[in-house]
Amino acid sequence: MKLTSQDFKANVKTALADPTLKIALNRTTGLLQRRRAQVIDEFAEYGAAREAAEKIKDHTLDNLEYYLTQFEENATAAGATIHWARTPQEATGIVTEICKAEGAKTATRVKSMLGEEIGIPEALAKAGVKRIETDLAEHIIQLAEDPPSHIVMPAMHKTHEQVAELFREKHAKPSNSDDVAALVESARHELRQKFLDADIGISGANFLIADNGSIVTVTNEGNAELTVTPPKTHIVTVGIEKIVPSMEHATVFLRLLSRAAIGAEITQYTTFYNGPKRKGDADGPENMHIVLVDNHRTEMLGEFLRPMLRCIRCGACMNHCPVYAAIGGHAYGAVYPGPMGSVLTPAMLDLKSTKDLPNACTLNGRCKEVCPVNIPLTDMLRSLRAKQFERDLTPPVTRYALAGWGWLARRPRLYHLTTSLAMLAMRVWSMNRGRIRWFPMAGSWTRSRDLPQPELGTFMQQYKRRGSK
Ligand code: SF4
Repeated sequence: MKLTSQDFKANVKTALADPTLKIALNRTTGLLQRRRAQVIDEFAEYGAAREAAEKIKDHTLDNLEYYLTQFEENATAAGATIHWARTPQEATGIVTEICKAEGAKTATRVKSMLGEEIGIPEALAKAGVKRIETDLAEHIIQLAEDPPSHIVMPAMHKTHEQVAELFREKHAKPSNSDDVAALVESARHELRQKFLDADIGISGANFLIADNGSIVTVTNEGNAELTVTPPKTHIVTVGIEKIVPSMEHATVFLRLLSRAAIGAEITQYTTFYNGPKRKGDADGPENMHIVLVDNHRTEMLGEFLRPMLRCIRCGACMNHCPVYAAIGGHAYGAVYPGPMGSVLTPAMLDLKSTKDLPNACTLNGRCKEVCPVNIPLTDMLRSLRAKQFERDLTPPVTRYALAGWGWLARRPRLYHLTTSLAMLAMRVWSMNRGRIRWFPMAGSWTRSRDLPQPELGTFMQQYKRRGSK
């Protein structure tokens, strides 16, 4: 399945017509919202931690070159090899060259959105390296040949009944039960030997620590440790914005990340890797390569999208987005779905081919409210809309309507008269049924639902009538 942002409207229609998708999304987003609300309620220092996280990220972004250079020096001293990649092509080129040099036939992989962003699955396939996804959800979507639909829970679009059916079809020794524990056991059985046989282990990193050259991974399944430890070579692909100055700074984010992502105080596994295996170590990879990827991040540093580089990929914004909850992640046709994706995708691709994404938002502001690093997502979406308008990418109907509204809004008397008449017309129009089933220029709305009958009078008239009560 390959969907693109250009087909957003068609993708949305398909998603809305899928009743199973609705069940899958309702089950998970509701649960994640409740869990998050509870742990944040119990976390007395949440406000202070959020503020500190925002400041640390802003400081690190202000001094990005300094901290990245410090990381390079310290990681190299710990025995890792650092590679710099400006584009996805450069990054995947480095990864496949390492695989070639190692004569690798198989690679186990830990879920990493950066890996999806730069196209690691496609590059490995092209290089003839068999990819084995080890995260349970990634294992599911690899078997289903689906792209991820969420940045933390890539198989959010699947119900466990669908997963059971898939495992029965694809696993060597599947369980007859639809029970989640039985499904996990089935996946464990399927993957265990593959972990041990892999030539290369590929991971991302949740954080890079500048003052000691470590990388940090955060998982709930222990698959990162099993992916990274047995093979001879460990490759890390990571975005340059993941850098933090020190361990102390990383702990601020670790306290926020799992709370925001899955509503838990801490993830099951938080692992710090400092270079490859050293003399005397019982196990671990002999080589460690860290590929630091830019892919438009340095461009974002210098513009209004800069706060987006604070993102720690927790997924809370999509878990609380009414648009995501209705259509799921695939409809966005991009690696990053939901509110953060609607900002990031145009920044990484272009504003034209992704023009529907900044408009797939009600601007209700829940995403900003729940973001642990306080990213003003709705402000940035609004700015992207303004950029589209400036570049003539907004549809002509919208442009003319906005121009007409702008002209009218500068003439208050005429504006009040026109809005009063419009209200009156809508009330007369809906007199028979008490609702509006069709109205000129509101076809997109009324095609799928009725418009309610408007209140008597415009907002200003009602405000005056009611006073400030
Ligand atoms: S934008 Fe904020 S809420 Fe959304 S994934 Fe990034 S850090 Fe999480």
